[in-house]
Formats: sequence, structure tokens, C-alpha cells
Amino acid sequence: MPDGTLRTPDALIGAGLLTEADRDAATRVAARYAVAVPPAFAALIEDADDPIGRQVLPHADELVTAAHELLDPVGDAAHSPLPGVVHRYPDRVLITPLLVCPLYCRFCFRRERVGPGSGALSGAELDAAVAYVRARPAIREVILTGGDPLMLSPRRLGRLLRALAELPHVELLRVHSRVPVADPGRVSAALAEAMALDQTPVWLVLHANHAREFSPDAANSLRRLQRAGVSLLGQSVLLRGVNDSVAALEALFRAMLRARVKPYYLHQLDPAPGTARFHVPLAEGQALLAGLRGRVTGLAWPTYVLDIPGGFGKVPVGPIYLDGDGVRDPSGKSHALAGPPASL
Ligand SMILES: *Cc1c(COP(=O)(O)O)cnc(C)c1O
Ligand code: SF4
Repeated sequence: MPDGTLRTPDALIGAGLLTEADRDAATRVAARYAVAVPPAFAALIEDADDPIGRQVLPHADELVTAAHELLDPVGDAAHSPLPGVVHRYPDRVLITPLLVCPLYCRFCFRRERVGPGSGALSGAELDAAVAYVRARPAIREVILTGGDPLMLSPRRLGRLLRALAELPHVELLRVHSRVPVADPGRVSAALAEAMALDQTPVWLVLHANHAREFSPDAANSLRRLQRAGVSLLGQSVLLRGVNDSVAALEALFRAMLRARVKPYYLHQLDPAPGTARFHVPLAEGQALLAGLRGRVTGLAWPTYVLDIPGGFGKVPVGPIYLDGDGVRDPSGKSHALAGPPASL
């Protein structure tokens, strides 16, 4: 694909993002996991181990699978009734129309499956996925994810969104994407138009992990989607060396808000193979979020969630302010809570 995206150790060394000393490990990593860095994202990298480079540049540690790591950490397979469909909760369903991404995160929870050669659903499989939703009136929301649905052509994305929006019980459409920050030039007028539906709310949940991802071009691409009537939420993964400080999280969530993106979820890292170098313990994550409370606008506060390994669902994991019969304030001081008498 002659779009300037860096996809091989050679290309990354040529661009000055890796050195000859990295070649051997990078070659072995690239043989196992997809690699891609679009030029706009490469331009944000100052050195290989900075918060942007760490997310996308192959690293020797990826070749080591830790004992707790799982091939399918969130249990997609156990909840997949047909290709490209994951149905775990009664009111909402995931459809993965393709497994291609604009870049490949080194910590990706679906890293065993995503990649440039990974199958897009065939026309018949996509029809079957839509038929699955049509046959289940309990489904109110369809979430397009992948891979990255904004890697579809505007025509195909628009056709899929409209086919789903036509189903009377589908009240919401959601699209999970990294494209607006990873490769903002892809957010063309035609793509924004494809996402503009009159009758059905469309939410785009942007995956971004560091304030520097919000370049002027990224902000413009988000503005274009928002002007088309798309509501914007943010999701981030808590990552060692990327956003594991109060200052980095504050900057990230403030950058989201300036781009009209409401922080929705901060994910605990899923234990996919070879991702241990990004792990931040839960207690540390709780302390980091607590560091924002009371000081930073509540709009900047995402829900910190853990997808229970093995496929048992996502749950909020704090920080928790209730403390026995009392409650802690943002500074950590406990206060008793008096309620009305039990006879009321
Ligand atoms: C994360 C996820 C969802 C969406 O969950 P929300 O809490 O509504 O954001 C839906 N289905 C599956 C299988 C998921 O993993
Ligand atoms: S954008 Fe999402 S699906 Fe794609 S590589 Fe990154 S984490 Fe994985």
C-alpha cells in the first residue's frame, strides 16, 4: 500500500525510528505480530521509547509470553455465535467487519487476530451478521469494532450503518476507532457523510492514550465527525511508560475535552501475549485516578474498567470512596455518613 505507512523493520530503521541494533528483534516480532505506523503518527514520535513510540514500535519483550497472558484475554471466542459477531450482553452486540487497523498497538488485546492480511467479513458474512441483529429484538445497540471500522471505504461503512439503522429495535450505533488520531487524513468529507444518520444516534469511541496524539490534524478530523452529528467519547488503556502518571492522564483527558471528546473508559491492560512491559497494577491505577479527583473537572473522569480475563465481562474497578459506614473525601479524609432513621 503506497501510502507511506511504515510496515517493516527496514522502513522503521530507514525513518530513524529504530536502529540497526533493533533489527533482529524487530524482524522476529514482525513475523508474529502486525506492524504499521502511518506517517502522521510517526511524526509524533521523538524517540523509540517515548509515549508515542512505545505504543507502536516493535520491541524484543513482545517475544516473551508471561504465565498469566492469554491468547484471547477477553474471551471473544466463547461469545461469538458467528464470524465477526461477539454477543456477551443482551442489549448490545459487537460486529467486527474487518481486522485491519491504521496502526498496530504493541499492547493490543486482539493482537493474535488483527493485521493487514486478516480477513474482512465477506459480503455474505456481513449479511449474516446483520440478519443476526434483525432476528433479535433485544439488541438495542450495535458496536462496530475490529480492527478499525474507519478503515472501510466510506461507501461500505455507510451501507453497513444504514442497514443496521433500518432495524426498528436498533436505537444506537457505536463505532470504535483509532483513525482520527492515528491517520487523521482518512477522515474525509465522504467518511463523515457516511456516518451522518438522521434518525439513529451514532457514537464514535476514539481510542487514544496520550495528549500528544491530539495533533491539529487529529482535532480537525474529530471536528468534522462531530459536525456530521457524531457524538464523541474517548477510551484509553492505562500503559506503563505512556500514561502512567497523574500528569500524563490529566493532560490526556484535558486534550480529549478540548477536542470535544468525553473520556468514557480507562481500561486496565488486557493480558494479551507479550504485553507485560505495559502492565500497571490495579492499585496504582486507582491511585492515579484519585489524583485527579477534586482538582480536575469531573468531565475529564473516565470509568476505570477491567475486562475480567476469560470473558466474564467488564466491571468498574474504582477508586472507591466508601469506607465502612463512612466516605473518604478527595484528600483521603474519612467522614461519617448519617442517614435518616431506619423507621422512615
Ligand atoms: C466492551 C464490550 C461491549 C461494550 O460495553 P459497554 O460497557 O457498553 O461499553 C459490548 N460487548 C462486548 C462483547 C464487549 O467486550
Ligand atoms: S487500534 Fe485497537 S484493535 Fe487495532 S491494534 Fe490498536 S488496540 Fe488493537
